Amino acid sequence: MARGQHSVAFKAAKAEYNGIAMKIGVLALQGDFAEHVAVLERLGADAREVRLPGQLDGLDGLIIPGGESTTIARLLERWELLEPIRGRARDGMAVWGTCAGAILLAERANDLDREGLRLMDITVERNAFGRQVDSFEVDLDVPALGPTPFHAVFIRAPRITYLGPKAEALASLADGTVGAARQGRLLATAFHPELTNDARFHEYFLAVASGARAPAGTEALSTNPS
Ligand code: GLN
Repeated sequence: MARGQHSVAFKAAKAEYNGIAMKIGVLALQGDFAEHVAVLERLGADAREVRLPGQLDGLDGLIIPGGESTTIARLLERWELLEPIRGRARDGMAVWGTCAGAILLAERANDLDREGLRLMDITVERNAFGRQVDSFEVDLDVPALGPTPFHAVFIRAPRITYLGPKAEALASLADGTVGAARQGRLLATAFHPELTNDARFHEYFLAVASGARAPAGTEALSTNPS
């Protein structure tokens, strides 16, 4: 997608669609879900904590927070959320995974002792930055968010090591490591936008999620602008 298209569409991002607040769930099994809920509420979205399959009904989007991917995977299985989330995503619900959440979204992740959601055609390497720099902060260029760099907080973060043909990089580190990617209405960030005051990634996700409500062909942030 052309850089300009991203930025223009981003300005159209709102926490509502046709006057109705965007309904965004945050998976609240473990990890920093409360921080995501706070940002969404600040933006005016209708934010819901999700712990049970029935709480997925009517959501425009779902955020899988950072935390411990093995723990969240275990709880997704125990609370029988895997298939319902996959089904809602297939029907058009947007899903965004941050850090551990990105690991759970990935089709392939090393050292995950059980199945994640496997929704997005990316490969991630868990805890890829090693002990010496297992946490760091860096200003990233994210063309989709406009010209101002985004301050990205990486905490024992994964590396996105492969993007399938339908996925695109939204941001990369200086060495080329992909830090954020998108595939249709799926979004993966290796870092934690919910831990900064910059809500542009959440606004971007709201714009992506609003696509599920837009009539065909009028989606604000289409990945296939043909
Ligand atoms: N290292 C964690 C994992 O592998 C992710 C850390 C995080 O979400 N900040 O699940």
